[in-house]
Amino acid sequence: MNRFAKVALSAGVSLGITLAVMAAVSQIPGLEVPLAWWVIGGALPVLIASPITYALVRQSERIAALHARLSAANIELRRRVDIDQLTGAWNRAAFTTHVSRRRETMPGWFLVVDIDSFKGINDAFGHAAGDAALRHVCLLLIAGAGAEALVGRIGGEEFAIWLAASDESTAVRLADELRRAIAARPIAIIDGRRLSVTVSIGVAGGDGLGIDDAIHRADRAMYRAKQDGRNRVRRSA
Ligand code: GH3
Ligand code: MG
Ligand code: MG
Repeated sequence: MNRFAKVALSAGVSLGITLAVMAAVSQIPGLEVPLAWWVIGGALPVLIASPITYALVRQSERIAALHARLSAANIELRRRVDIDQLTGAWNRAAFTTHVSRRRETMPGWFLVVDIDSFKGINDAFGHAAGDAALRHVCLLLIAGAGAEALVGRIGGEEFAIWLAASDESTAVRLADELRRAIAARPIAIIDGRRLSVTVSIGVAGGDGLGIDDAIHRADRAMYRAKQDGRNRVRRSA
């Protein structure tokens, strides 16, 4: 119902009630309602109800618009709180929340992915190139991990991934595909130079492990990948 229909309805209802009351009063013996009273009795409710209803309708429309803006702002705030602004990955808390929900319905494995010699990239090419490398790696992780996967940034140059994989060998194969995809795709940086990036990945998980425990084990496996020479995948012992 639009604004003017609401005003007309309110004026009509006020008019109807007033005329009904006046008609009832005019039935009382000895109480005759003169014509002028009928005119005034008819005009007053319309003149009073219409502007008041109009003002109330306008106010409720403003409140509805404010409510819609508030809801949109809340959604945007939630997004900013949950998502790492540099890479677009979930932050650690949001990653944990989403993983625990998803784990209720499907099996999965955890990866910890750490960019190799990242400090050297910052030192050689500058912090902005380091940031670009982080975004580049994260994009490749999100693109390659599969539609059901969740990717979180859990440290400076460290990501955790929850993969929808039913067994360890599938998880290790997917981890190695991610590793190779990153090694095969150098980043284009200013003045035509290309920068190769590699990652070391630890794999852990399966049923019965808490998220923090699984990430901790994947992290230890990732450190073994570093010790073994970097740019490789290791599974949790
Ligand atoms: P390793 O192969 O053993 O992992 O060596 P690494 O150099 O990658 O690891 P290290 O822990 O020595 O250095 C990590 C560096 O990551 C140090 C820190 O300045 C940098 N870093 C952390 N967060 C950011 C960020 O948001 N942007 C940039 N550009 N650098 C970051
Ligand atoms: Mg590193
Ligand atoms: Mg690290």
